[in-house]
Amino acid sequence: MTQNKVRVRFAPSPTGALHIGGVRTALYNYLFAKQQGGEMILRIEDTDSQRFVPGAEQYIIESLQWLGIRFDEGVGHGGPHAPYRQSERKEIYKKYVDYLLKNGLAYIAFDTPQELEAQRKAIPNFQYDASTRMQMRNSLTLPQTEVEELIASGTQYVVRIKIEPGEEIVVNDLIRGEVSISSSILDDKVLYKSADQLPTYHLANIVDDHLMEVTHVIRGEEWLPSAPLHVLLYRYLGWSDTMPRFAHLPLLLKPEGNGKLSKRDGDRLGFPVFPLEWKDPKTGEISSGYRESGYLPEAVVNFLALLGWNPGNDQEILSMEELTQLFSLEKCSKSGAKFDYEKGKWFNHKYIQQKDNAEIASLFMPQLEAYGIQSDLQYVTRVVALVKERINFIKELWGQASFFFKAPETYDEKTVKKRWKEDSAQRLSELIGVLQDITDFHSENTENIVKAWIESNGYHLGNIMNAFRLAVVGESKGPHMFDITELLGKEETIRRIQKAINTLS
Ligand code: GLU
Repeated sequence: MTQNKVRVRFAPSPTGALHIGGVRTALYNYLFAKQQGGEMILRIEDTDSQRFVPGAEQYIIESLQWLGIRFDEGVGHGGPHAPYRQSERKEIYKKYVDYLLKNGLAYIAFDTPQELEAQRKAIPNFQYDASTRMQMRNSLTLPQTEVEELIASGTQYVVRIKIEPGEEIVVNDLIRGEVSISSSILDDKVLYKSADQLPTYHLANIVDDHLMEVTHVIRGEEWLPSAPLHVLLYRYLGWSDTMPRFAHLPLLLKPEGNGKLSKRDGDRLGFPVFPLEWKDPKTGEISSGYRESGYLPEAVVNFLALLGWNPGNDQEILSMEELTQLFSLEKCSKSGAKFDYEKGKWFNHKYIQQKDNAEIASLFMPQLEAYGIQSDLQYVTRVVALVKERINFIKELWGQASFFFKAPETYDEKTVKKRWKEDSAQRLSELIGVLQDITDFHSENTENIVKAWIESNGYHLGNIMNAFRLAVVGESKGPHMFDITELLGKEETIRRIQKAINTLS
């Protein structure tokens, strides 16, 4: 074990919106680094210019910021290893490409895409490796003078790693234990392309992890197949002693559990797979995001944290701080985690209940304004206190609480049929008289007085209360009736009852 300070990195490629699985990877890195008193780097892996998508980097940064996942170093932060965007580190990588070539650990290949295609057609399961490389056009088969001439004349080439077959390569994974694979099944991956003078993902990733003194590589399971190659690269470059520990996180699975979670599942079942709304710059297509769908960042963090890890007890509601204390890579599961988005809603519900009413009210204020409602925060806060247990999302507040801000203009037909009785107008007229005499309009007091009046007259409690609610709310929903009237106040309550009598009789 090394004594080094823990250093992790989140190393996304800016190829589009950050998938929710990528967010979980960032989160686990963050939790681990914080817990270990370590540092976290944001590195942008943009060496594949063909897949580069404008706006993706900014999107990634904004997403993680929204969720409270903070970096110590990297793009947007600077640091001792800057620059942190791989496209700006060209010169750094060249040195290592030359080193591998000089030591016979890699070679130059001139095969054109057409030539490679022809091989794929001619040889079933063609792979550029020890079994085929001596039939290809590369620096192992061509005379050195020809290689030099080709390069001098500007012929494009790639550099490939030279993998020797027949060796067991062992990847030591903190989650999966020892994973061993035969080098015979690996191909001579391209490490560098002369066309854009950039390394490919594999080389840039290893060189940067080494130079940036990364101690732990925590990433998605989809990178596990690349890990043996990475182990070899560390050895080829003479860095085996300081190789980071690997931890490959379990896949996020479809809600049904069969196969990898994809954007299509989100479209199909109606939940976001991206943290923020994303507009594809090419197609203009808009994909929904957790933020815009009304999720609280704390809820998303809590939900994601438990997809592939659990604290080993039944505790489900965990703050970032608690997660940081409890998190451990060893407790991450090896098998995929079903993406149970209903559970995501449940978390949001829970976090809304925990949140300060005034805070929720201030999130609700802009929506009220959009409905043309002017109200003060204090009143909205009291409304929130009454209805928040009924909602999963802030945007559902309006549906539950609009009558606190606007008298009903119409009355729900079904409810009228069922609840507005022959004597309702008469009884509600009497009720107005009763309410008028009340000076303390607090819920409990009003309730006591109204119920005493009903009882002493031998009236039907249910009938009166139903008509009362219909008059004040416009339908048969809402919190406790006398909590509503306390908030609306005497005048407004009476005005609504009067209006209902006039309209419904
Ligand atoms: N650039 C890779 C990605 O987009 C990084 C994989 C890794 O963490 O090594 O996920």
